[in-house]
Amino acid sequence: ARTLRLVLGDQLNPGHSWFQQVDAQVVYVLMEVRQETDYVLHHAQKILAIFAAMRDFARQLRAAGHRVRYVALESASNRQSIPGNLQALARHYGARSVQWQQPDEWRLDAQLQAWAATQPLAWDIVDSEHFLTARGELAALMQGRRQWLMEHFYRHMRRRHRLLLDADGQPEGGRWNFDHDNRKPWPGTPPQPPDWRPTHDHSGLWAMLQRCGVDSLGQPQAAALRWPLNRAEALACLEAFIAQALPHFGDYEDAMASQAPRLFHSLLSFALNVKMLQPLEVIRRAEAAWRGGLAPLAAVEGFVRQILGWREYVRGIYWSCMPGYENRNALGHHLPLPRWFWTGDTGMRCLQLSIRQSLQTAHAHHIQRLMVIGNFALLAGLDPVALHRWYLGIYIDAFEWVELPNTLGMSQSADGGLIATKPYVSGAAYLQRMTDYCRGCAYDPRQRTGPRACPFNALYWDFFDRHSTALRDNHRLTLVYRQWQKMPPQQQEALRGQARQLRGRLDTL
Ligand code: FAD
Ligand code: SF4
Repeated sequence: ARTLRLVLGDQLNPGHSWFQQVDAQVVYVLMEVRQETDYVLHHAQKILAIFAAMRDFARQLRAAGHRVRYVALESASNRQSIPGNLQALARHYGARSVQWQQPDEWRLDAQLQAWAATQPLAWDIVDSEHFLTARGELAALMQGRRQWLMEHFYRHMRRRHRLLLDADGQPEGGRWNFDHDNRKPWPGTPPQPPDWRPTHDHSGLWAMLQRCGVDSLGQPQAAALRWPLNRAEALACLEAFIAQALPHFGDYEDAMASQAPRLFHSLLSFALNVKMLQPLEVIRRAEAAWRGGLAPLAAVEGFVRQILGWREYVRGIYWSCMPGYENRNALGHHLPLPRWFWTGDTGMRCLQLSIRQSLQTAHAHHIQRLMVIGNFALLAGLDPVALHRWYLGIYIDAFEWVELPNTLGMSQSADGGLIATKPYVSGAAYLQRMTDYCRGCAYDPRQRTGPRACPFNALYWDFFDRHSTALRDNHRLTLVYRQWQKMPPQQQEALRGQARQLRGRLDTL
């Protein structure tokens, strides 16, 4: 063979132009390595799903006639690092060149280039042919702007791809954004659709991971792994989402319910992030559903905005801020994560349910991640780097390019407000309105102080008080500070005292 082509575990796109032709001089290399199982403590289902999907992908490539070298985790010749294996395989095959697709993580991008620079081999990096924007495109578009508003980028993308536009190039329905229609609590009907995802038995793979001593968190559910593991399964999931959930996606996008953990979300993030699905095909499918009268415009626009807007936007933020973004801590938060982040054993029912669900299923939807777990972390002042590593591990869809800007930037405002124009925080009133979590909670959402008071309340006011130097001039927070200043000093003092006490015993909440 003359060429090795590396396929990373999140590059499982059978439609990539690499695979259009069979070439006996090319060996496709996929590898399971400790470097990847160990860079953070991952959810068991995340490791299982990625390895199982890689194995499936290798089978498909072989069936299509390609030469494939699959390095299993247990293989005796496995060097357990990507460069280590590439080096050994290049020698083994007498390869003269190595090619890889642009990695999405800075970590791998830097590692591969550093390795290649020391090699006599020719090397080449090709596009992964997945995203709708190049790495540096957001930065170029935003040049000279003080704030990198997602909405500005999103409209630009809608125009460029002619999505949800009328014949005159104007947004369908007369508005670019239907966010205001998409904020309803869920009354219990229509019912959450049944879980449409396939079930796989990967107990054999799980036993192998155990034999190798791979550490993980959460429940493996190896005998009933519920994630799409190849493109055909992912497409079936997309169709089920379009038919069964998209019509209600908009209305209940921000809702949370103890009996309905998935609600009307797509659960497509894993399939998208490992590139079994292409973003544009998913968006066009949703647009077609609206044009065919199968889903309302507000729902379809909301869904399109997440993928065409937010997903591409956070990737642009990532590439313009790396390296170094992962260590930003603009608000100077340093408290360690409470122990119940790994068990869900807390009396705060919203956190208990959201974290237990994350441990059980490796998934929580956006508002649980942002307005329950992230909200609490920001109000309490948890260390954003520790929090980032927790998010990077626990979710099935967590890859640094998308997880880091969402956690550190959007959720924790640790980047100094580059993404979030104001901190995403709330007291208990918001959670009581949008969820049924407060019913049956050990705490009372209406109380601010005292032993039964919901911790979100005192922590909320204390957060704004502690950070008034950084935040009080933000015009989007004028009302909050006006309310705080109107409070009698004894009440302010009581809230400060309550918050101090709570922050001193987070493990016991
Ligand atoms: P749906 O609600 O059905 O949305 C459809 C699709 O839109 C998703 O599959 C996803 O591809 C995309 N999307 C939606 N919101 C975002 C967003 N904010 N950024 C990027 N893409 C978005 N998403 C990840 O893919 N990986 C992560 O590691 C990740 N970490 C997050 C951490 C925090 C603190 C927060 C607040 C959000 C994070 N998100 C992350 C974004 C979002 O929560 C998930 O994409 C979503 O919950 C996945 O579930 P779903 O497929 O059912 O999404
Ligand atoms: Fe969460 Fe407070 Fe409601 Fe309990 S009362 S569920 S802690 S918001």
